[in-house]
Amino acid sequence: MSFSNYLNMLVQSKLGLVFVFILGSMFGSFFNVCIYRLPKELSVVKPRSFCPSCKKTIPWYYNIPLLSWLFLRGKCAYCGEKISFRYFFIELLTAFIFTFGVYKFGFTLKALEFIVLASIMLILFFTDLDERILPDEITLGFIPVGLIFAYFSPDRGFVESLVVGVIGAGMLFLLAYVYLKLKGIEGMGMGDVKMLALMGTFLGKKAFLALMIASVLGTIVGLFIIYVLKKGKRYEIPFGCFLAIGTVITYLYGNDIISYYVRHFLNHY
Ligand SMILES: [Zn+2]
Repeated sequence: MSFSNYLNMLVQSKLGLVFVFILGSMFGSFFNVCIYRLPKELSVVKPRSFCPSCKKTIPWYYNIPLLSWLFLRGKCAYCGEKISFRYFFIELLTAFIFTFGVYKFGFTLKALEFIVLASIMLILFFTDLDERILPDEITLGFIPVGLIFAYFSPDRGFVESLVVGVIGAGMLFLLAYVYLKLKGIEGMGMGDVKMLALMGTFLGKKAFLALMIASVLGTIVGLFIIYVLKKGKRYEIPFGCFLAIGTVITYLYGNDIISYYVRHFLNHY
């Protein structure tokens, strides 16, 4: 029996999925560190995790993904300070991303591509939400990774990913520049532009669909925040969050959305 057959048997036996779930929760624990440290330009490897309140280094047995938070009932073992539910939530969400990827695509390169893409979108979502920062380490750092996946992908070519990544980002750069000249304020951050270049390498021309989904969602939520929550018109919408959601939706359901649109709106007999 070949190695991939063996792996697929593991998936069918559900044991493989349990393993992938645990692996995902461990990566989620690391993503928590990335989300907290990357916008502050701190190293993600040193020092080891510590309590933000009492600064005590957290030993491995209090740092077990998912379980430690539950066991300690969301409190630091030393000072009793509350540990945000967010840490637990991101570990769980990452575990879900990993499990869903393998469940949907099997132990394939496609599954790995989905897991990498959804993971970096998760990190960008939360750094943008917390600090309005889309770290270059992720946006620019993963452009070569997207291109490598594109090279092996049957869905989009390497050239398509390269062209859309560069042109998409170029168009937005122009838009941001014109907006800045006309209004004197930065309408779209350069972080968003770099993120769109990244999306182009992973989605090819479908990155435009992701941008459309992000714009619609961003407008709806933006109007809600301004007129219902009355935060005022100067509230800065974290557009990267919507780009992240648009990217994952497009990666999973882009073809369905496009064919639905073509069937219902373009076929006039
Ligand atoms: Zn503490």
